[in-house]
Amino acid sequence: MNQSDIKITNFIRQIIEKDLTSGKYSKIYTRFPPEPNGYLHIGHAKSICLNFGIAKDYNGQCNLRFDDTNPIKENIEYIDSIKKDIKWLGFKWDGKIKYSSDYFNKIYKYAIELIKKGLAYVDELSPDTIREYRGTLDKAGKNSPYRDRSIKQNLQLFHKMKSGGFKEGKACLRAKIDMSSSSIVMRDPILYRIRYVEHHKVGKKWCIYPMYDFTHCISDALEGITHSLCTLEFQDNRRLYHWILNNITINNHPKQYEFSRLNLTYTVMSKRRLNQLITENKVANWDDPRMPTISGLRRRGYTANAIREFCKRIGITKKDNVIEMEALESCIRDDLNKNAPRVMAVLDPIKLIIENMSSNEQILTMYNHPNKLDMKTRKVPFSRELYIDKADFLETANEQYNRLTLGKKVRLRNSYVIEAHRIDKDANGNITTIYCTYDSNTLNKNPSNGSKVKGVIHWVSVLHCIPAEIRLYDYLFRIPNPALEVNFLNTINPDSLLIRYGFVEPSLISAKPGSIYQFEREGYFCADIHDHTKKHFVFNRTVKLKNRWIKIK
Ligand code: ATP
Ligand code: MG
Repeated sequence: MNQSDIKITNFIRQIIEKDLTSGKYSKIYTRFPPEPNGYLHIGHAKSICLNFGIAKDYNGQCNLRFDDTNPIKENIEYIDSIKKDIKWLGFKWDGKIKYSSDYFNKIYKYAIELIKKGLAYVDELSPDTIREYRGTLDKAGKNSPYRDRSIKQNLQLFHKMKSGGFKEGKACLRAKIDMSSSSIVMRDPILYRIRYVEHHKVGKKWCIYPMYDFTHCISDALEGITHSLCTLEFQDNRRLYHWILNNITINNHPKQYEFSRLNLTYTVMSKRRLNQLITENKVANWDDPRMPTISGLRRRGYTANAIREFCKRIGITKKDNVIEMEALESCIRDDLNKNAPRVMAVLDPIKLIIENMSSNEQILTMYNHPNKLDMKTRKVPFSRELYIDKADFLETANEQYNRLTLGKKVRLRNSYVIEAHRIDKDANGNITTIYCTYDSNTLNKNPSNGSKVKGVIHWVSVLHCIPAEIRLYDYLFRIPNPALEVNFLNTINPDSLLIRYGFVEPSLISAKPGSIYQFEREGYFCADIHDHTKKHFVFNRTVKLKNRWIKIK
């Protein structure tokens, strides 16, 4: 059975199937609730595939809701990029895009309801003191001296907060729950804080903004979400989620389920850290091909299909773990191995002259894919002067070396068998030209004397090839778990980007930005979506070929 035919199952889907079978719900509603404070990363893809995937598979509905309660860090660029990435991943949200800020009026009314029930109060302790009074896991919290204000006073003060009567940090609204609760989240959490910041959507209408915990459960309930799926760090917040919904007048009461976040080796995942990489000039931008962002992966040459397949393979559990970067790489390799056309490119060129060949060029026909003949053929010019890769020639080598050496035969990929006879060197002893002869009877067949030629090397014709800038990307970090370091920026891999100036075969003249190829024996490469032009070719290495594959060749 094909990997992609395997039916997805996980503990959340099992709960959903049970809820549908028992008739608890007739339709499933999920949501994906990104905070627009950065670009989406591969961790978000896990959540997207889960939420949108469930809605799709069970004929439900998945909302896209921007959790825009912190106007300081949020902006339109992020919103646009998130929409684009979700669509690119192949998912569609139902109906209009939702924003938590759509519900600010309602959320405000629910705050008033809590105050009127004696379940919320305006606190005037400073943020530091509030933190100090909150206590620790071993130490109970302490009541604020403002905790027992009358309902009337709280209503007045909350109104004063709303109308700009307090400076930032001078007052906040807190739920009145239990300062000695075993769960710190329940120790009178803050519901509203003051921020004199213009909001990207509602402008200057508000100077008080609801906190995430207060906003999220209400937004879920207002949208009729049935299963609110979030990552494990919200496990403790689940009690607060239900406390709020139990204490306000609202019809719907979604249930929250948590699953583990995606962590990947050799990268970092939090938007805060990704942002730091940009501001400290370690990478160019959010879509730098070394970033684990959806836009970075796309620019690097990852396909939506490979990312979805990756999310399917890693599954959904409650166990925290770190997935090997190789697991992601093997998904894109599998996809491109099937689908990417093959071409030849020489990344580190050295000239090779076939002395017994006339100066006339030959046009060879090559399959674009060894196993998919429907991907058709292309014409590749072969001529007396070629470039091969420096690493494919050694003056002398042992028996294991399968590439070109003096006096040994090797096949030029999809063409003839050649033998090297002599070389030119420059004043520093570097090889500048390799002189060979070719056997004109060996076009895609063995020499007539029956000798076997093991090695195959790739090439391009000097006269016809196109110069290209080739960006070789590697892991952004030197160590598997950079996030565990005191300063993760100290563990950046200095060779995460190496630039080569090489040559590609002329069939690539029509390569469009974003198109992906296998450069034979080198890896998969994608024409850069920003910098590749007709005048200046730029290819990004998406992923290397499998080591095993390189050895076979
Ligand atoms: P970050 O810490 O990277 O900033 P976040 O959780 O603050 O991430 P949000 O924009 O709030 O990011 O997340 C939107 C949704 O994506 C949430 O439901 C969140 O749980 C989920 N999500 C975020 N990161 C991951 C991850 N690494 N793995 C799985 N789901 C994730
Ligand atoms: Mg966040």
